[in-house]
Amino acid sequence: MIFQQTIANDIEFTGQALHSGVMATMRIIPQPVNTGIIFSRTDLSERPKIEARPENVISTKKSVTLGKDGWKISTIEHLMAVFHAYGIDNALVEVNNQEIPIGDGSGRIFAELIMKAGLTKQNEERKLRYVKEPIWVEGTVYNGQQPLQAMILALPNDHLEVSFVFSSDHPVTGDQYYRFKFSPEAFFDEIASARTIAFMREIEYLRSQGLALTTDLNLAVVVGDDGYQNELRFPEEIVRHKILDILGDLYLAGPTIAHFVAFRSGHALDLELAKKLVLK
Ligand SMILES: [Zn+2]
Repeated sequence: MIFQQTIANDIEFTGQALHSGVMATMRIIPQPVNTGIIFSRTDLSERPKIEARPENVISTKKSVTLGKDGWKISTIEHLMAVFHAYGIDNALVEVNNQEIPIGDGSGRIFAELIMKAGLTKQNEERKLRYVKEPIWVEGTVYNGQQPLQAMILALPNDHLEVSFVFSSDHPVTGDQYYRFKFSPEAFFDEIASARTIAFMREIEYLRSQGLALTTDLNLAVVVGDDGYQNELRFPEEIVRHKILDILGDLYLAGPTIAHFVAFRSGHALDLELAKKLVLK
């Protein structure tokens, strides 16, 4: 029997929020069995709470945002990926901002914090979902103005695996492929440190839309027209980060054993698959 888990000790972390650029403080607090992952805003007078579930996602534009009744909490996906990887079923995440701090742009800081806090096995069985037949969603992603086919597929498998094809005609990135066979150790070594992609030309556009990346360009793999603008952590860092995002997005549906195969998928399509998994 596999048991539910929570963290063994409280975690506190202060860091910059990606889009607003202000400092945010986050606390992660152990919770009893069958609580799930709950997010709460401590800067709002009623300290509202929301469950990390697919139906509570109100936006997938650039990051994953939970919300209801006019309030929201953004950029949950990398923390969710780390909860997924370490098998944390029950936790309360309090933050005094509308965004979770971005850390170093990857899941590494959250993974280190959780390993340091330790895990507690709880006296209740973990509910694992096994995919019994192929389940997939298809959609369109945009490369500039050009629409491109995208897909994410869950195949029956006896362990968790994620394969991703990142396809781009950009001369700097090219196509990238990575196949990740899950274990918590492999997650830390292969996936946790990978940062998201940002195109130099998009950064200016994002800032004009109020989704300004902070001034620290090391929070992302920055792709210029002639080459990478900063040092890579892995040759195929971009596609490894896409796998981090999938682990975070699909954890909205709870732990699922499958081989997930994705072609150009992003948060929006990942969420559609999470919704389909919940119905199974
Ligand atoms: Zn991401």
